[in-house]
Amino acid sequence: MGRLNRILIGLLARQSRGWYSSGASNEELVNNLVRDGAISSDHVAAVMRRIDRRPFTKTVGGRVAEPREAYRDAPVPIADGATISAPHMHARALELLAPVLKPQSKALDVGCGSGYLTVALALVSPDVKAYGLEHTQSLVDLSTSNVMDAEFQGLLGTNINFYLADGWRGLPDVAPFDAIHVGAAAHSVPQALVDQLKPGGRMVIPVGLPNAPQQLVQIDKRTDGSLHVTQLFGVRYVELVDSAPAFRTKIPFPRR
Ligand code: SAH
Repeated sequence: MGRLNRILIGLLARQSRGWYSSGASNEELVNNLVRDGAISSDHVAAVMRRIDRRPFTKTVGGRVAEPREAYRDAPVPIADGATISAPHMHARALELLAPVLKPQSKALDVGCGSGYLTVALALVSPDVKAYGLEHTQSLVDLSTSNVMDAEFQGLLGTNINFYLADGWRGLPDVAPFDAIHVGAAAHSVPQALVDQLKPGGRMVIPVGLPNAPQQLVQIDKRTDGSLHVTQLFGVRYVELVDSAPAFRTKIPFPRR
């Protein structure tokens, strides 16, 4: 079977069944994501092989998922209003953001939840500084504890940092960022995050209302500061809770 057909079958199977790329181990899961086309670069595959997903499935109550659930290509609930995203979504986000992450780049992971993607962003290039942001202390603590369980404690406080903050406001004191990932669906693109994107940088953000069709949107800031907005594909994320309506954007929803 040709590569294109395998990818199409993988995509159709995923739409109908949800966890086609699942494996019995982290290695098998990553191999299946490569087989099904969710991972297309060796580099992203190598990053995802370095991070065992299982420790990141821990709930705030301390329960770690069984291997069957931890290596399934599906989200796992970790707290009220929070899931660790499905592996194929982590893979897609990394594929989209890896090209803008060079040595010593800065990455912001809004709604970092489990902390998985914050770690992954830190590993994409040498000495990337990744900043995970959460709006509840219990999830900041969970991310930190997961990083230690997954044995990346050596990077804590240097390349991996977690902040208690509002995702609608971002981290103005740390900005600008080469890459911004938003892990929860926003009803509109937060202006503060656009402002915190470096020229030449890229943001990937799900846009839409909770329990309604959402789109993954890519926003590239050109070197002259202008924006190029691309609507990628339909997604389903938990809500980026709007605690600060004053930070709503004026950017129109992207058109093809
Ligand atoms: N990428 C994460 C996804 C976690 S789910 C992972 O794969 O583990 C989305 C997260 O967004 C939740 O943990 C939730 O607490 C967080 N969130 C929602 N609204 C937020 C806000 N306004 N500011 C910061 N984080 C927010």
